[in-house]
Amino acid sequence: MNYLSTRDTERTRRTSSAEAIKEGLAPDGGLYLPASVPTLTRADFDALCAMDYPARAAMILSRFLDDYPADALAEDCRAAYAPERFPGGCAPIRTLDGGIHALELWHGPTSAFKDMALQIMPRLLSRALAMTGERRVAHILVATSGDTGKAALEGYRDVDGVKITVFYPLDGVSLMQKRQMQTTEGRNVSVVAVRGNFDDAQNGVKAIFSDPELARRADAGGFFFSSANSINWGRLVPQIVYYLSAYCDLVNAGKLAFGDPVNVAVPTGNFGNIFAAYLARRMGLPAARFLCASNRNNVLTDFLATGVYDRTREFHKTISPSMDILISSNLERLLSFLGGPALTADLMESLKKTGKYEAPADLLHKIRASFSGGYLGEEDTLAVIRDTWRDEGYLVDPHTAVGLGCVKNYRQQTGDRTPVILASTASPFKFAPAVASAIGLAQDDDVFALLRRLSAETGDPIPAPLAAVETLPVRFTRVIDPAEMPGIPFES
Ligand SMILES: *Cc1c(COP(=O)(O)O)cnc(C)c1O
Repeated sequence: MNYLSTRDTERTRRTSSAEAIKEGLAPDGGLYLPASVPTLTRADFDALCAMDYPARAAMILSRFLDDYPADALAEDCRAAYAPERFPGGCAPIRTLDGGIHALELWHGPTSAFKDMALQIMPRLLSRALAMTGERRVAHILVATSGDTGKAALEGYRDVDGVKITVFYPLDGVSLMQKRQMQTTEGRNVSVVAVRGNFDDAQNGVKAIFSDPELARRADAGGFFFSSANSINWGRLVPQIVYYLSAYCDLVNAGKLAFGDPVNVAVPTGNFGNIFAAYLARRMGLPAARFLCASNRNNVLTDFLATGVYDRTREFHKTISPSMDILISSNLERLLSFLGGPALTADLMESLKKTGKYEAPADLLHKIRASFSGGYLGEEDTLAVIRDTWRDEGYLVDPHTAVGLGCVKNYRQQTGDRTPVILASTASPFKFAPAVASAIGLAQDDDVFALLRRLSAETGDPIPAPLAAVETLPVRFTRVIDPAEMPGIPFES
């Protein structure tokens, strides 16, 4: 299968999936997309529904990554989604009142959904390096709003032929997230705090990727830059799997009949996870609408309402920090799918120059045929956590709470009662201070003491990877200005 840049109007440059995964970003600054989306037949679905998660993943991946040997993908999926790595199951469902099915994507090594992609992606990259005859070291650069960084560090640590540097915004991640990153083990990892917000860190990484002089210097030093952010196709494709898997599980459990429509609600930041759900529909998932849920950084809500994407606005730090994003990079993929590469290139140019763009009416119309936007403020988010705990005995983290609150608002506004698959994106223990305050527990300066209190109160166990962080030594404490970022990969 051929991969194309979202901005490629010529459509003659041929890129394999291995090359797309190795490069991360296309040379023209666009993002890679498959030239066409493979579709699943009814027989494919029946086969998929009879499989376990690793086999489902291997089947979906092989449709997109057709240059990878199928047995290699099967082996990698077995290893990445092994029960030791996902002791609570890969993507189990907890059904809430009103046909809202919470898809728990946080049973992996870092207790957030990004493990679903980042446990498999390093293996895909390793294979891509071998398949393309690459001899240089791949230096992975990651900008993180919290969860990606740790998930990438866990995925890439001690992988041969790879180094990884993670940049996180100094005050833009939770204490637990910071501590998780600072204590990462492994000989090929480094972690640096950047003075600024997530977008500053992300822009810094993007600038490094698109600077030919830095690429030349890296090449001379025997390495090249690659990304683990959701701009990389290797991050996105594993995320398609769990939406299809969830549908199978709901059918297998008798909660849906095959073909019944679902809506999909996703607490959204970079637009990667929700775009994966959209791709699942292009493959055949009977999804009716996608609910794009934002926190106070509601740039996507406004975009879906008006067609104007405007990042020139105040940035808010919230209790759902992994969604504190004003540039939702993966939206570019949707724009390209529905509006074409020439228009996409124009809109992205405008975003770069002015911080905003306006989608033409016909494009907005197409987007709104599938996507609804909504957002939740801080108080409402806390109220959702409190009410869900009180009424259903189910503890949700602030990101998932944003999604759940938006589902409820959407249902109230529209009367649309279609069953919902809700992406539950983090363990509530990962955001213990906000969750504790929502359910009326006293705070504690010691975040680990707070975890124990939360566990005692709720009866839910502390996820093992979070508990382990308490006793690991802090290895990384460096803080830099954004302007210093380009120099970092060239140190040592
Ligand atoms: C990254 C993240 C999100 C946002 O996902 P995107 O793919 O960036 O839209 C939501 N919740 C949590 C917990 C996350 O870590």
